[in-house]
Amino acid sequence: MNTIYALSTAPGRAGVAVIRISGEGAREAVTALTGEAPGRPREAKLRRFRDPESGAPLDLGLLLFFEAPASFTGEDVAELHIHGGRAVVAAMLRALGHMHFLRAAAPGEFTRRAFEHGKLDLTAVEGLADLIDAETEAQRVQALRQMEGALGKLYECWRARLVKALAYAEAEIDFPDEEVPGDLLAKLGPEIHALASEIAAHLDDGRKGERLRDGVEVAIVGPPNAGKSSLLNRLAGREAAIVSEEAGTTRDVLEVRLDIAGVPVTLADTAGLREAANAIEREGVRRALARAEAADLRLVLVAPGAGGDFSLAREGDIRVVNKLDLDAEVPKGAIGISALTGQGLDALEAALREKIGAAYEAQEHPLITRARHREGLSDCAASLARAGEALEAGRDAELVAEALRLAARALGRITGRVDVEDLLDVIFRDFCIGK
Ligand code: GDP
Repeated sequence: MNTIYALSTAPGRAGVAVIRISGEGAREAVTALTGEAPGRPREAKLRRFRDPESGAPLDLGLLLFFEAPASFTGEDVAELHIHGGRAVVAAMLRALGHMHFLRAAAPGEFTRRAFEHGKLDLTAVEGLADLIDAETEAQRVQALRQMEGALGKLYECWRARLVKALAYAEAEIDFPDEEVPGDLLAKLGPEIHALASEIAAHLDDGRKGERLRDGVEVAIVGPPNAGKSSLLNRLAGREAAIVSEEAGTTRDVLEVRLDIAGVPVTLADTAGLREAANAIEREGVRRALARAEAADLRLVLVAPGAGGDFSLAREGDIRVVNKLDLDAEVPKGAIGISALTGQGLDALEAALREKIGAAYEAQEHPLITRARHREGLSDCAASLARAGEALEAGRDAELVAEALRLAARALGRITGRVDVEDLLDVIFRDFCIGK
């Protein structure tokens, strides 16, 4: 039973629901439900769906049929666009469940098939998952780009160059007396160097892509009673707060998720600089301080009567004086606000938008979005460095080749394409060596 089906839209009452069927049996399933063959692919058809056993009508809806390989999964795919009532969806799923040649899809199985049939590489699969999870505009832009292959293409291009370099090294091993590949060092040195510096530049991205995916951390720090939680609540009330609950929120730190300039921001009142009464509180303070330290952006808040000044503030922090309504003095370079009356909040929000928007605006080059990519790239860079060293030291071509092979594999692991040998065959074919 290799034909799968599933409800592809969110469960629950809705105008329309889409059920997808993928695999060899998709055509047969459609015929069983509609009493006729799917007809021309990619053409929407109005069909009455019936229970194949009793003949009773289930719903009136649209049928879309995609013929392999021109479909999302690369297999025959049928999409049934039906009314999104709970009972309609349940009845359709029940009818499909009774067809012995179908089975319910496992989570992610449609996408898995798309990967297995070469429709998407792993980075595109991740992009698709991120696109579905995207909560803000900048996340959407990044995910869409990745889904459309921006990262995959970059890595495949590097991998192809590596494999080509590997082919030269292999040629040197297989045909040592041939003049053709020429001096290995002269041939490969510049290319290995170029690849290494391109990959290093890609790795040195300030983790922006990962931050955009996971959320940018902004910490409000300041002495007790400066108004940190008042400010947090104010901002949460004014900005679009993202409601989905983040797991792992510690109780020492009060936080809200906001959408600022299209970037998901976790705004945390680290409550950190309080005098701790006991060991548990001290631990809380320690964690809060560590969190503030690790934040991507800090908002340093002071207020008259609360003590503290901007001596804690560092370059890049946003300095805020609260309680303007109490005639607080605002030094140059700081923003005066009142969390109580809302005065000055526009200026503070503008400063936040400017800092965050500028740092995370769409980049010319695609960004690393997961630790998995970073690991693969670091492994690749390390192997590449070894290849370069072996080459410079005039070591055996075998050593150079082995390091290049590992470097190519490390990239292949990121995209899920590990067929170095296949690529080598192709490259060797137009190498015209020997004979
Ligand atoms: P935190 O300890 O830094 O989190 O400070 P809170 O947000 O708990 O505020 C401490 C006290 O200052 C509370 O009584 C607030 O109502 C008050 N407060 C906060 N912001 C303002 C403000 O802008 N003006 C005035 N007058 N009082 C404020």
